[in-house]
Amino acid sequence: MMKVAKNVARADARKQERKDRKMMNCPNCGAALESGAGFCASCGNAVAQTPVPGNAPQMMQPGENAGGKKGQAIASLALGIASLFAWIIPLFGFPVAIGGLITGIAGRKTSAKAMATIGLVLSILGLIATIANAAIGAYMGATGQHPVVNTIMY
Ligand SMILES: [Zn+2]
Repeated sequence: MMKVAKNVARADARKQERKDRKMMNCPNCGAALESGAGFCASCGNAVAQTPVPGNAPQMMQPGENAGGKKGQAIASLALGIASLFAWIIPLFGFPVAIGGLITGIAGRKTSAKAMATIGLVLSILGLIATIANAAIGAYMGATGQHPVVNTIMY
């Protein structure tokens, strides 16, 4: 008999302990909060749940970093596309294509790797076109065939 009562009491204590850990009160209005709730159901106040040590903060930080660097993948794609047009004028083509290369390499380390890779490839194409155009322009200028150079020089 005594043993059974003791076990019941211990089980009750364990249950109460679990309940205490689950139940939180809103720091704003004091209403009881559902465990895991991010917001108070009573007043709508955002509630910072005490995170499991070493779990939640680690999950937050890479996400934030990837979000920040993801901009580099987007920038690389934008610069890569722009370099396909900017190569026509080497003065614009070089900075745009090189910017696309740098952001593309940085962006490939993020979750937007595919986007950064496309930006990187487009930037390389833009850079090749820019170099080719600059080389042709320089050659034509040097040999007196460049229409723009001819207009200015002669
Ligand atoms: Zn509240």
